Amino acid sequence: MPILPNNSSRRYHPFFDENLKLVSYCPLCDSHYNLLEARILEEQEGASLIYIRCRKCQSSILALIFNNHMGVSSVGLVTDLNPEEVLRYRSAGEVAEDDVLWSYQYLQKIDTVVELLG
Ligand SMILES: [Zn+2]
Repeated sequence: MPILPNNSSRRYHPFFDENLKLVSYCPLCDSHYNLLEARILEEQEGASLIYIRCRKCQSSILALIFNNHMGVSSVGLVTDLNPEEVLRYRSAGEVAEDDVLWSYQYLQKIDTVVELLG
């Protein structure tokens, strides 16, 4: 599946270009991505999860590309996760109330220790 425009003479419809702009250019520094740096993390029928790191500014994006009878579209976000973390957290469970409470109490203990040391 050709997911990104390349240097061939093939022409894309403007709608197609607009949807793929996210995965063609870095949203932070506007550099053109080298497609060899794109990594497909997961593929399911009609959808691909792609991770791209910008060579120039080192930022990363996660993009979900849909390719179905409606055409090609994409959604994406800037992330500070690496590809392995994306896959790990993707299969992680939801954050429960107890997790939040535990984190709060843990941070309070750290504050107490810092105060005692200060
Ligand atoms: Zn960049």
